Amino acid sequence: MKKKIIVYSMMIILLFTMQFQVYGETNSQIDLEERKIDPNKPMVALTFDDGPSEKYTPEILDVLKDNYSLGTFFVLGTEVEKNKELLNRMIKEGNQIGNHTYNHKNLTILSDEELSNELDSTQNIIIESGDYTPTIMRPPYGYVNDGLRKKLYMSVVLWTLDARDWENRNTEIICNNILENVKDGDIILMHDIYESTAEAVKIIVPELKSRGYQLVTIDELNSIKKK
Ligand code: ZN
Repeated sequence: MKKKIIVYSMMIILLFTMQFQVYGETNSQIDLEERKIDPNKPMVALTFDDGPSEKYTPEILDVLKDNYSLGTFFVLGTEVEKNKELLNRMIKEGNQIGNHTYNHKNLTILSDEELSNELDSTQNIIIESGDYTPTIMRPPYGYVNDGLRKKLYMSVVLWTLDARDWENRNTEIICNNILENVKDGDIILMHDIYESTAEAVKIIVPELKSRGYQLVTIDELNSIKKK
């Protein structure tokens, strides 16, 4: 009997130690248990285009992480070239990465060869730098037509709410554009290359959370809303 108790105690200690080690290894990432998604509660997907930006993307990543939230980043090949470590951080912390092409051209007027260069070179640099293969893309300026859709090998993700941060560059207006119009299931367009956007994210993320919104990736949003 005594032997049994000793064996059980050892097992419990072992399990406890193992769990502690697992936690220790992942504590730089988001504790996914903390942000279990409730399909019955409202959710939105924050999306950030045109980065990564050495200056502002880390600030946005900090806010997301501190709020147990994730975002989706539609990155440019030219910017990934300069910020490979940052791309790795985005991925490691659980955010989704989408292809936003290499040079941010209007894809609807490109030749087939130019189009595949724009897409493939970006796809390749993300795979090489981050060991991650994007499955979604956002065409620059949202310019897309049926002909182009047929040539793309990834699903196209546009948006339902534009913060117009690229136009106004004003934190207060960005916050108002989002907080006055947001609804369940929205895909919100922002750019992680402006100081005003990074500042707005510091206000928007906690505010949306206090209103009961869950901040999810495009994959998470699709998997729940399609059910
Ligand atoms: Zn863009």
